[in-house]
Amino acid sequence: MLMVAANQDAADAQGRYDHRVRTRALEIHTRSARGGFLYLLAWLPLGYAAGYFNNAPWNSTAITLVLVLLAWIRMRSRPPKTDAAAQSRWISRYVLICLATTLIWSAVQAWILLDDMAGVQTRNTTLMATIAFASVFAHLYTPVMRLALAGIVMLLVPVLAILWMDSAEPLMAAAMSVFSIYLVNAAYRSRADFRRRLDLDDALRGQRDQYEKLSQTDALTGLSNRRTFAETLNGLVREAQWLQGAGVALVLLDIDHFKSINDRHGHVIGDEVLRRLARKLARMFSADDVMVARIGGEEFALILRDVDEVSATIRAEAFREALEAQPIACAGINVPVTVSMGVGSFHAARDRDDDGFYAAVDVALYAAKQQGRNRVVSISMLEPGRIRARRGHGAVDAAPTPQNDDV
Ligand code: GH3
Ligand code: MG
Ligand code: MG
Repeated sequence: MLMVAANQDAADAQGRYDHRVRTRALEIHTRSARGGFLYLLAWLPLGYAAGYFNNAPWNSTAITLVLVLLAWIRMRSRPPKTDAAAQSRWISRYVLICLATTLIWSAVQAWILLDDMAGVQTRNTTLMATIAFASVFAHLYTPVMRLALAGIVMLLVPVLAILWMDSAEPLMAAAMSVFSIYLVNAAYRSRADFRRRLDLDDALRGQRDQYEKLSQTDALTGLSNRRTFAETLNGLVREAQWLQGAGVALVLLDIDHFKSINDRHGHVIGDEVLRRLARKLARMFSADDVMVARIGGEEFALILRDVDEVSATIRAEAFREALEAQPIACAGINVPVTVSMGVGSFHAARDRDDDGFYAAVDVALYAAKQQGRNRVVSISMLEPGRIRARRGHGAVDAAPTPQNDDV
């Protein structure tokens, strides 16, 4: 049991990690896919205004082409829908594409700032564009923090170096330094906000999964509940109606004289008997079976996939014998428990649908009770006509198995 819980925890943690990687990949993509074109928008007018397309046409054209190419690659690059490892690799590649663009802008602005011929307007516009790009990194690209920080550093460190080296602009250098510190701070805040959002998302998803599990599980035994059983049987019967040979067998089990167990030992022991019997059932019928469910007070059901009626009957009989041979021990008391079981496999012509199938197996269970309890009766052991006579007695969602019918 502990092992199962540990595996479940590991699977949950893996699921959370996968979801986070996926969210980061999707977020960074939606926030930045068209960002490459902003650099073009800044470069083209600046390049023209500063006269670079005339004075250095080769360099200017090369810068334009590389920026167009990178912007296009960035826009076309989409996170894969497969697994977290592939998404992680995609993020690393995407970071490189984004930073390549930033590196080019960094070179362009160094070119302009170090160019004595560039006018004040060109210099200031370049600085404004750099401030805008760095702000985008700090506020928007923090789902991938290494991209945000690397972008800020690549944009601002060269500017700061140039401004501080130029003794004519100490005020501008100081202002840019303060702004850089603010931006790094803002990036960490933005990352913290993003993480809080992910945590909240995790908590909500966890709660949703837990409610879903609770709504499918029987609280006392932890087995599947009647609703899940009915849905599963319905699905498998539909499948069997379409696919020739995909057999589905159903075993209905009802504890014999459970009322007197309660009367003799009390409800607490009665509950414990139900729990232990459920565990025994789950142990014996876990391997390739589809479902072990508690479908009523002291009634259980097993759905066996790709199993014919004979094999299902043999397995049910093995369980019945094992239970009869060993009383259930709870709280120091040995409680002898026997069960009656009805077994059948789905026949489209006879049963029509899941309700018809359930009713047919319920007839077999009823017969097991009538014949003296502590036994397994399969549909094929009944005389023909009995199913038809009692059809409608116990639809999946409605009727319980026969109650006190001492014979
Ligand atoms: P039969 O052999 O005909 O099935 O007899 P039975 O006594 O098992 O059947 P009956 O339907 O008369 O009684 C079922 C009893 O199961 C009555 C009810 O108090 C008890 N029961 C139902 N659910 C629970 C439960 O969750 N805990 C306990 N302790 N008892 C339960
Ligand atoms: Mg009973
Ligand atoms: Mg009953």
